[in-house]
Amino acid sequence: MMIPIRCFTCGKPIADKYAKFKEEVESGKNPSEVLISLGFDRYCCNRMFLSHVDLFPQIKHYPRF
Ligand SMILES: [Zn+2]
Repeated sequence: MMIPIRCFTCGKPIADKYAKFKEEVESGKNPSEVLISLGFDRYCCNRMFLSHVDLFPQIKHYPRF
């Protein structure tokens, strides 16, 4: 699904940074360095980015119920 709006543990907003994170990682940068440059130094927030599986491109073709 889509990335959660806030970190589950500390509550820091993360969803607004996900597009930038994804763009930079897909361009070949190290995810760890990208997270530091975006201001995420806690591992609770880092796991939100690193463990997220973006399924929205697959499920957007199915109708809502
Ligand atoms: Zn956090």
